[in-house]
Amino acid sequence: MPQGGTEHPWSIARSGDLYGLNRWGEPYFSINSRGHVVVQPRGDRGGSIDLMELLSGLEERDLSSPLLVRFDDILDDRLERLHAAFERAISHYDYSGCYQGVFPIKCNQQRHVVEHLVESGRRWNFGLEAGSKAELLIALSLTQNPHALLICNGYKDHRYIETAILARKLGHQPVVVIEQADEVPRIIKASKVLGASPFLGLRARLSSRSTGRWGSSVGERAKFGLNLTEVLKTVEALKAAGLLDELRLLHFHIGSQINDIAVLKDALQEAGQIYVELTRLGAPMGLLDVGGGLGVDYDGSRTASSASTNYSLQNYANDVVATVKECCMPHNIPVPTLVSESGRAIASHFSVLVFNVLGCGQPPEQEPAPQPDEPLPVRNLRETLFQIRQVKDQPEVDISLLQEAWNDAVKFRDDALAAFRLGYIRLDQRAMAEQLSWACAQAINALLPGSKPIHEDLRGLQRALACTYYANLSVFRSAPDTWAIDQLFPVMPIHRLDEQPTELGQFADLTCDSDGKLDQFIDAGKTKSLLELHPLRDGEPYRIGIFLAGAYQEVMGNLHNLFGSTNAVHVRLNPIGSGYVLDHVVHGDTNADVLQVMEHDPDLMLERFRQATEQAIQSKALGIADARRLMDHLKTSLRQTTYLQE
Ligand SMILES: *Cc1c(COP(=O)(O)O)cnc(C)c1O
Repeated sequence: MPQGGTEHPWSIARSGDLYGLNRWGEPYFSINSRGHVVVQPRGDRGGSIDLMELLSGLEERDLSSPLLVRFDDILDDRLERLHAAFERAISHYDYSGCYQGVFPIKCNQQRHVVEHLVESGRRWNFGLEAGSKAELLIALSLTQNPHALLICNGYKDHRYIETAILARKLGHQPVVVIEQADEVPRIIKASKVLGASPFLGLRARLSSRSTGRWGSSVGERAKFGLNLTEVLKTVEALKAAGLLDELRLLHFHIGSQINDIAVLKDALQEAGQIYVELTRLGAPMGLLDVGGGLGVDYDGSRTASSASTNYSLQNYANDVVATVKECCMPHNIPVPTLVSESGRAIASHFSVLVFNVLGCGQPPEQEPAPQPDEPLPVRNLRETLFQIRQVKDQPEVDISLLQEAWNDAVKFRDDALAAFRLGYIRLDQRAMAEQLSWACAQAINALLPGSKPIHEDLRGLQRALACTYYANLSVFRSAPDTWAIDQLFPVMPIHRLDEQPTELGQFADLTCDSDGKLDQFIDAGKTKSLLELHPLRDGEPYRIGIFLAGAYQEVMGNLHNLFGSTNAVHVRLNPIGSGYVLDHVVHGDTNADVLQVMEHDPDLMLERFRQATEQAIQSKALGIADARRLMDHLKTSLRQTTYLQE
């Protein structure tokens, strides 16, 4: 159990520290005096929503957890901050160009999200980046601003390229970024066929290596981008085809979540020099696109750990602006308009995934009463337990004794198992051995000092004793990166924060997959495998939030065990007066939806059930009332979400 420090009563400030909320949550999340998480969707510009109150309001509207709550005001605030940072840097370094960002659609393709960003980014001519044909269709259908950029990345066939060319005729500003050498002849051919061309860009494969998870996105063996020889050849080919005048943009992307600013600086310098060379080769240029990678401080540590960044948004903007200026100045070439494709940094903060805990599994606490005919392993375990209790009465706890006792307990438990297998002991005797080994574990755990580092064997014991909290959630659907790439998100209870969390636990999700769990948590630059949680109370829900989950999770999620998307709501502060406005409710998948994805036909399924019940009625195995009840359950389940209902 976490060490209580009973001399000071628990406080919401201590909860804030414990879960790191004061660090990663700033300025959007905090804790109020009732011990609830509150959301300040407009950052420090006022207005707040109590998350628990919001949830009860939503429940009254029949929207229950798990629920994805999207705060569109936070998207606005992120956009504001990004632009303000670049504006400050531009004025501070006296940069004579401007910043014009785009949103990489792949980060969150939800219509309401992209629509909102386009609408609210209009005043900065904020544009979109597409990485596939489907994303290009989204971008074309949602942008109307002729000044906004439409960056076309990804693999491109002739239809993709022709669509981009024609989009320019429609009044858009498509920039087709050449990522692979073989796209060049296709672009030249399409331009000849249509007698027009899109703006062109080059994606450079930089040799500056990134660190962190996405480090392999750059370097000689990266998947995308042209190496320097290919860049030069492309320039030649475009010149020969009379298309060099359309070459406007240089692009690079050194991977998502850049954790170390030094890596970005190297890449910027390298790209800046390539930019200069391209202008010398006669391309008009004018745009330098620094890609994505602007990181999010998930663990609040402000370090170069993979869940954090050792720089702020302002540091990032400063470095981009200053480095690009330094590259252009000595050569007397005009500085480019700076473009970034920041996805994670814009979309992470605005969604909170809230799930409820269905129950909690704890190791048994009962110590079995002695029996007259106990076999040897059981007697040995009793003796071990007795010895552990002796340690308790000594003035100084000897950790090595505890370790030895635990090794003994494990051995005797295994002896009991072996004896059971050979038929020497009964099932109830084996169960006794199990219970006694748990009792030993608990007795040892109670004696462990909370502060001192302990041996790995005993750590395993702590983990074994932890409670498993059963989450009404599928991590594969709603937080897939926790499973796929061990990404850390801040996870914490959203209420009872004025109360000391006395349990240590992990979460197991609804899927029948042993990987369906949350068992790594942020810990100020490190990770921990157990989270401090509250004991469940009868009849009272316990709600947990996964924060900063707005980027990538929804679309990367899958239908493992056929758990579908959760309901999602878009909540905005009421612009007039107080409270909130529910802008959109996006209904999650029903059971019928997910079945249809797998080509099952719900109507046909119902008809088969009906026929089966009819036969059972005829053979008198099932009464009509029960048959009807069963059909009702089936019909209702098809209409309802895939998650459990409270
Ligand atoms: C994924 C991607 C992005 C977005 O990266 P973030 O780290 O989310 O900002 C931008 N540009 C390209 C080319 C990408 O592939």
